[in-house]
Amino acid sequence: MDSKRFIYAFEDGDGKNKILLGGKGANLCEMTQIGLKVPPGFVITTEACLSYLEKNQLPAGLMDDIRGHIKALEKKTGKGFGGGANPLLISVRSGSAMSMPGMMDTILNLGLNETSLEALIRQTANERFAYDAYRRFIQLFGKIALGVADEHFDERMTAVKRKYGARLDLDLDAGHLRELAAEFLEVVKRHCGRPFPLDPYEQLEISVGAVFRSWMGKRAVDYRRQFKITPDMANGTAVNICAMVFGNMGNDSGTGVGFTRNPGTGEKLIYGEYLVNAQGEDVVAGIRTPKPIAELEMEMPELHRQLLELSDRLESHYREVQDFEFTIEKGTLYGLQTRNGKMNARAMVRTSVEMFGEGLISRERALLRVEPAVLEQLLVPQLAPNFHGKSLAQGLPASPGAASGRIVFDADTAEAKGLAGERVILVREETKPDDIHGFFQAQGILTSRGGKTSHAAVVARGMGKPCVSGCEQIVIDDKARSATIGDATLREGDVITIDGGTGHVYAGEVPTVEATFSSEMVTLLAWADEVARLKVMANADTPEDATRARKFGAAGIGLVRTERMFNSTDRLPIVQEMILAGTQEERQAALDRLLPIQRADFKGIFKAMKGLPVTVRLLDPPMHEFLPSAAQLELEIAHLHQLNDSIKGLKDLPDTLKLLNPKLYQQYADGLTRLVGGLRTFEESHLEDDVIHRKEAILKKVRALQEVNPMLGHRGVRLGISYPEIYSMQIRAILEAAALCAREGVEVYPEIMVPQVATVEELKRIHGYVQRIHKVVELTHGINVKFKFGTMLEVVRACVRAGRMAETAEFFSFGTNDLTQATFSFSREDAENKFLPAYTETGILQDNPFEVLDIKGVGELMKMAVTKGRETRPELKVGICGEHGGNPASIHFCHRIGITYVSCSGPRVPVARLAAAQAKLLEHEYRDAD
Ligand code: PEP
Ligand code: MG
Repeated sequence: MDSKRFIYAFEDGDGKNKILLGGKGANLCEMTQIGLKVPPGFVITTEACLSYLEKNQLPAGLMDDIRGHIKALEKKTGKGFGGGANPLLISVRSGSAMSMPGMMDTILNLGLNETSLEALIRQTANERFAYDAYRRFIQLFGKIALGVADEHFDERMTAVKRKYGARLDLDLDAGHLRELAAEFLEVVKRHCGRPFPLDPYEQLEISVGAVFRSWMGKRAVDYRRQFKITPDMANGTAVNICAMVFGNMGNDSGTGVGFTRNPGTGEKLIYGEYLVNAQGEDVVAGIRTPKPIAELEMEMPELHRQLLELSDRLESHYREVQDFEFTIEKGTLYGLQTRNGKMNARAMVRTSVEMFGEGLISRERALLRVEPAVLEQLLVPQLAPNFHGKSLAQGLPASPGAASGRIVFDADTAEAKGLAGERVILVREETKPDDIHGFFQAQGILTSRGGKTSHAAVVARGMGKPCVSGCEQIVIDDKARSATIGDATLREGDVITIDGGTGHVYAGEVPTVEATFSSEMVTLLAWADEVARLKVMANADTPEDATRARKFGAAGIGLVRTERMFNSTDRLPIVQEMILAGTQEERQAALDRLLPIQRADFKGIFKAMKGLPVTVRLLDPPMHEFLPSAAQLELEIAHLHQLNDSIKGLKDLPDTLKLLNPKLYQQYADGLTRLVGGLRTFEESHLEDDVIHRKEAILKKVRALQEVNPMLGHRGVRLGISYPEIYSMQIRAILEAAALCAREGVEVYPEIMVPQVATVEELKRIHGYVQRIHKVVELTHGINVKFKFGTMLEVVRACVRAGRMAETAEFFSFGTNDLTQATFSFSREDAENKFLPAYTETGILQDNPFEVLDIKGVGELMKMAVTKGRETRPELKVGICGEHGGNPASIHFCHRIGITYVSCSGPRVPVARLAAAQAKLLEHEYRDAD
């Protein structure tokens, strides 16, 4: 006999030990021990399950132990197992430490056989009830314990119903059900080659093994993989054996489910449904429509009072909203199980604030019980909760929120239609910086390529617009202005709905519900700010983004990507002029036109963030991103040449027609003469030649700028070194905007940040520009602008040289998008599309490192850089502005390595504020781990 204890009666199991007893078992023990009325029973531990799975048999002595506990149950209930005048029926339920709803097996009414059935009939005087229980038991046991497929039973059920003209199961009387039970016994015998076991202990032994095995069933294994349930979270299932109580014993019986508070709104009011004279599965199966619990007050006032008491006692004991099941058997109320209630984001926030107000939980608990990521749901529109339509395709959930609109396939059309008041969804293979004007006017973005940190995803998140990226089932044909998904074809103008929270794409318009920033959310986040050490800033590129970020509680702007400003339609031509300039003078002329525009942009952002720091990054992307692609230009030039040929052909048309068909010529002579005249004037204007020349010049430049690996090429600070006039213009725009704000009495804290720095010398050169321009601005504006100068750390070498970098840089900001790319040598676009899903699915990587910071690799570099940087400059300010800045797990790490702030897109600011508070509250848990 195994020396381990494998069984605990509800009276003596440790209600806190969910790993050993499973969630359900532990709670049944606890409910029993705090004096709630629970049907008696016992728990077989998860350790017994693991032993069974290892040896493929029940642990030695377990059945003897079970017998002992059943005897005790018989005594407690005054009933007999498998016989006697008062038969004991039991339920055999699975239950692991983590809730895995519906993933494992449960058997009800165990203990029924010919003898106990007779006793049940006599005792209840309800033959129909008894046979109904019997046939349900045979089917459930047959399926779960003996592996007989449901369809064999369903076939018999259909045949019996047909034979007696019954439409519903409820139309069958006791005689019909007796016949059905006999048929079911035959089904089992036929499929198993042996009769249905009538000995209740044999039934029990087989069932316990079956429930244990269901831990390794496909459903359960898939579920654990999907929700990342690891063995330290839940290992094996317990088996809960509990005396059955019946809610279907007449009109003084019933069953139902309850929530101690409304899980949809968080309101403090019992919420749930019940059915009179029914068993639990009737509520679930939807055969009868359950009634709201409020009606129980009329129907059974005393029981309603008891139910409220049960609800209150559960909640005040667990100090958490509970989701519980109950049964009323002949006027007695039993609690059958309880667990923490799953609620939507709104309800979680409201209950946190209210339960603190009621003294039920501490402020720390109120902050810790809300998962930060769910807050994002509250800040963007969602699909209507009652919508259950089938989606056309699913891509990556790249930016949350739902939006409907007409499909457009390019940014220009998106802009034109959007400005005309139409709601559009921009659908592209992938997006580029020069699509930005389309983003502004679109309700949402759908791409067939690219991951969650693709251009489309990052820009959409920054703007708080929904985005589904990498939806590879959609094949886009730009020319035909259509897209196909399997057999379906979508044309420009068709309406679709995208859900950026799930990645689903739907045909047609799906109703959505608007976002709300409730007063409870404001309260909770204010508590978070009091607790957190990390500051939360936002990535924002326009005054509108900045204003919104401030509303979400951003403590400043951690990253303004200046190139986003270059891409709007009024600026792009000037930017192109600057790039195409043949001489430095020409370039300076274009820059002179850009200067006031940039200055106005910065002024707008500084004003929106008055009193708070704003970090502006100098130009980062390679130049070619502002120009059309070589392929597109070649096509356009070829078209223009074709036009020339066509014009020549048309000019010959009158002579050719005169020769071939003089009559027809005569008929159209006037028109033809006019046409040829027009063509001549057009030709003399040389309009198309001019355009061809211009396009050829651009093509030449595009070819010259072409790089094998542009993201590792001529970009970031390298551009600033090659074209000092570009960075100089931007630096001047920043400092002048600050000076102008200061003159207007607006408090500003500008910070100038250099991207892609790899060597200390690069940083020093740019610092040289800044010092020079600062003096000029002081002279011309009469104001000594206070500012900070710093660098991004997004190149591995820069992290290694952080100690020296900090001699020049007053702050660091980790660009973890590029730093992750550089550390792994993964190209982020390709990785997310091609191999990363397989890497995370097969466990090569735990998470996508572009979403969740890779602590062991990238994190180690960051830790080193922070230490080296602060050795040089102890007060060094350090932030993070890659996408990880809004990811809760990454924020915990940033807290632990002593970073000053995280910066993320506006709608993630509330998420980050809560995560920053949780990082502080949980820091002791990590002290040893790091
Ligand atoms: C980064 O690399 O993390 C970053 C913020 O820069 P970008 O994403 O613009 O390259
Ligand atoms: Mg970068």
